[in-house]
Amino acid sequence: MPIVIEQPRTEAELVAIVRRAAVDGRRVRAVGRARRSRVLRGDEIQVDLAAYRRVQRVDRERATATVEAGITLRELGIALGSWGLSMENGGRQPGQTLGAAVSLGAHGSGATHGGLATQVTGLRLVTPSGTVIDCSASEEPEIFDAARVGRGMLGVISTVTLRCQAGFNLRSEVTSVGLDEGLATFDTYVDGHEYAELSWLPGRDRARIVTADRTDEPADGGAVDRGYRWFNRRRTWPAKVAYSFARPASGPALQRARELSAGRRSAPLFPIEVSVTAADDIALSPAQGRPSLFIAGVAGLSGRPEWGSAHGLGPDALRAMYPRWDEWQAVRDRLDPTRRFAQSRGQG
Ligand SMILES: Cc1cc2nc3c(=O)[nH]c(=O)nc-3n(C[C@H](O)[C@H](O)[C@H](O)COP(=O)(O)OP(=O)(O)OC[C@H]3O[C@@H](n4cnc5c(N)ncnc54)[C@H](O)[C@@H]3O)c2cc1C
Repeated sequence: MPIVIEQPRTEAELVAIVRRAAVDGRRVRAVGRARRSRVLRGDEIQVDLAAYRRVQRVDRERATATVEAGITLRELGIALGSWGLSMENGGRQPGQTLGAAVSLGAHGSGATHGGLATQVTGLRLVTPSGTVIDCSASEEPEIFDAARVGRGMLGVISTVTLRCQAGFNLRSEVTSVGLDEGLATFDTYVDGHEYAELSWLPGRDRARIVTADRTDEPADGGAVDRGYRWFNRRRTWPAKVAYSFARPASGPALQRARELSAGRRSAPLFPIEVSVTAADDIALSPAQGRPSLFIAGVAGLSGRPEWGSAHGLGPDALRAMYPRWDEWQAVRDRLDPTRRFAQSRGQG
């Protein structure tokens, strides 16, 4: 079968594409911006939302925004900023699309903040049969729960309604410490700052800790900046694998990552990155049921894998890690019994 890439501009076009695929019995995959999702399979239709990325509605009183899922986190931050609003936390890859970030449980770093999916108050989901479902905590709550970290397997997220906050400034600080000290004291930074992350280079013994806190000081283009600009700062994203662990009992995982990375000096050297989030109760969120610490860039750890990782785990292993796995599968069975929205990695 010829490969088809569709770029809908409206929800009606998106629905028509999914319905046609249902009639033709073809597989469908929503794609964001990552090259990794561009691997083409002969029998599938890829739905690229690059042309479906507007802010549809902003409710300043309630501080919510309804946005088309193809917008990138960078574009979203700038757009909300122009309304005097901000997300409470960003992701760690500003080029990713909102639909992908919500679907994979992407997150920034801060112990009092959940991942991006926890900021979602409503979704419009185009299901595999082409039906549009409005879901939220009060409307179709099981679907809302499953689709917030739906891994692209429950349909195409059309629009996302986000809880926002009044825009704010952040003062950031970068600290360089010995790696052992950094790993031993990271919890103190996490508890003492709204946002905190740590990184180190394999084979090196220095750690870099970045923190940020809200401030009333005016943005100066340096240490003090608008929150959304700080969330959007440029990062490389070389990690192929990342795992989450329950905090605060994550010390042994950090030590293991340190050991595994100690002898590695491959070129180019990419950092190992450590981030944290609050607990949530989204069925397949890597932070479900526990405050979490994430380690990206070291393979072979034993935590819950970040979705999108090259983790190689099958359904039995994943079910053992995610207590709500079967609830999520039940929603999947209901929405996509013939598995037309299957993904290539960690399908489960
Ligand atoms: C190891 C690893 C760790 C990561 N850690 C973090 C992190 O800590 N913080 C962070 O912010 N990011 C993180 N990321 C990045 C993030 O999880 C994804 O890689 C990113 O969201 C991909 O974005 P994309 O726009 O390129 O989408 P793609 O890679 O194209 O899509 C990602 C998935 O989302 C699905 N999808 C895309 N759009 C939709 C839609 N509209 N509706 C339904 N499903 C959709 C796709 O089908 C696919 O399953 C990590 C990635 C990896 C590989």
